[in-house]
Amino acid sequence: MREIHVNQITRAIRDLAIRANTELGEDVLNCFKESLSREESPTGRDILLRLIENAEIARSEQIPMCQDTGLAVVFVEMGQDVHIVGGTLREAIEEGVRQGYGEGYLRKSACHPFTRQNTGDNTPAVIHIDLVAGEGFKLIFAPKGGGSENMSRVTMLTPAVGVEGVKEFVVQRVKESGPNPCPPTIVGVGIGGTFEQAALLAKKALLRSLGSDNPDPELDRLEKEWLEEINRLGIGPQGLGGRITSLAVHVNMMPCHIASLPVAVNIQCHAARHKEVEL
Ligand code: SF4
Repeated sequence: MREIHVNQITRAIRDLAIRANTELGEDVLNCFKESLSREESPTGRDILLRLIENAEIARSEQIPMCQDTGLAVVFVEMGQDVHIVGGTLREAIEEGVRQGYGEGYLRKSACHPFTRQNTGDNTPAVIHIDLVAGEGFKLIFAPKGGGSENMSRVTMLTPAVGVEGVKEFVVQRVKESGPNPCPPTIVGVGIGGTFEQAALLAKKALLRSLGSDNPDPELDRLEKEWLEEINRLGIGPQGLGGRITSLAVHVNMMPCHIASLPVAVNIQCHAARHKEVEL
């Protein structure tokens, strides 16, 4: 049995919170650069250039790439032969969020749903734990901004609508979102499972590296087809018109109930932040 002290986890979460908000992934940056040659709108190209410049300034000056530094979403992949010592996993993560958002001068965005009273330290975090084989311990920090999260939806479709019905829902969601999720976006799609599982599948789809293929050839084909359709909508970077409305569509799928066809769309803005570490 491998032991991991909570202080290691707190330190890791603190660092991930700051790095995720200040260092945009190379895959996203490369995608901005590649999109420049495909964007026909001069305004769209100008926005893409500004996004590249913004990401470079954020990285070099260690300041957040966006004022909305998000709710703290944490994925934990924990080996079943790991024993957390010195406290609880949840409290270790919460303390890391507290320290990261405090010491990194990141905006605290968590509040009471009715009174809108800010919790003051960006806790509680949204924590998803996967128990896996072995002694590994992986943390993924994915801060999620409100603008793009607000445009996300879960629906329970009639199974008879099939793949065409799912495509219609996904494309329509992006169309109705217009400029609100700060395009160019990444469209995470979860198909199957139950109501809540579909949403989690969609959120996890956002963690996949941009430019990577879906391991399922059929889903890979659908991702490319749906992206083309989305990029024909003309919404463009920041919604000011153009070809590059989305950088990618990522789909996760699993079996569902014979009476159901759950579909979730989790939209990710251009500040596509996630950082991970193995302890
Ligand atoms: S949607 Fe994204 S880019 Fe837009 S304000 Fe929110 S975090 Fe920032």
